[in-house]
Amino acid sequence: MKVIRARYAGACYGVQRALSMANDVVARGEAACTLGPLIHNPQVVDDLAARGVSVACRVEDVADGDVMIIRSHGVTPQVRDAAASRGLAVLDATCPHVARAQKAAENLARQGCHVVVVGEAGHPEVEGLTAYACGAGGAVDVVAGPGELPDGLCDPVGVVVQTTQMQEQLDAVVEALRARGLSPVVKDTVCFATRQRQEAAAELAQTVDAMVIIGGRNSSNTTRLAEICAKACERSFHVEAADEIDPAWFRDCRTVGVTAGASTPEDQIQAIEDVLRAL
Ligand code: SF4
Repeated sequence: MKVIRARYAGACYGVQRALSMANDVVARGEAACTLGPLIHNPQVVDDLAARGVSVACRVEDVADGDVMIIRSHGVTPQVRDAAASRGLAVLDATCPHVARAQKAAENLARQGCHVVVVGEAGHPEVEGLTAYACGAGGAVDVVAGPGELPDGLCDPVGVVVQTTQMQEQLDAVVEALRARGLSPVVKDTVCFATRQRQEAAAELAQTVDAMVIIGGRNSSNTTRLAEICAKACERSFHVEAADEIDPAWFRDCRTVGVTAGASTPEDQIQAIEDVLRAL
């Protein structure tokens, strides 16, 4: 059975960077914890825990003396302040693309704009963007799409977008604002890592007999990849680890495609590809 990996698959730049920063802390023998799970990948989180990097839900839960690692989604300025007031050492693994979006939200508010954040309410990255805009004195609304835009908006309006949103969502919101006669200032902070993985998975799923999608079941971008693959390829299987692979899934298959979410490290992909090649 031929195993073909999607053109874009697996850990994105921001996740690789955060993992490597956490691994460096372990290598230096420093006590550390991450604020929230470092990435949506249970195996990686367990592995870090086994090497002494625990997970704290709140700054108050970080043990004295631990280095507090900020994950790629970033945090609110209030969290940074809370860590500073406790005198904690902080290792900032905020993805530079997310940091750029935070800065954009802050700048829009400073310019006096009513800030519209296009994204998923409650997501840690969106909470960060909202907090940066509020901190700069802006009024903020979070919308998943044009249907959620509040009534009564007036210029100046600024738009910023959660990095993992689809470009179409941003475009639809901007279009709806323009249709109301507004002239929004748009900061396009979409990161193309997600889109590249989705397009490459869709393309590959059309050409193979089966697809394996690798990543945490709690990872929304991996789940989305699995949905995309299932539309194009009936035999699509979402797995977290190699021991979930059932040879019966691939009966009479000549080709199997492999893709993985943006929080799936390379070693997990390779382990599963090895199992598939050995079938
Ligand atoms: S998806 Fe993009 S913005 Fe998010 S962590 Fe990865 S590289 Fe950074």
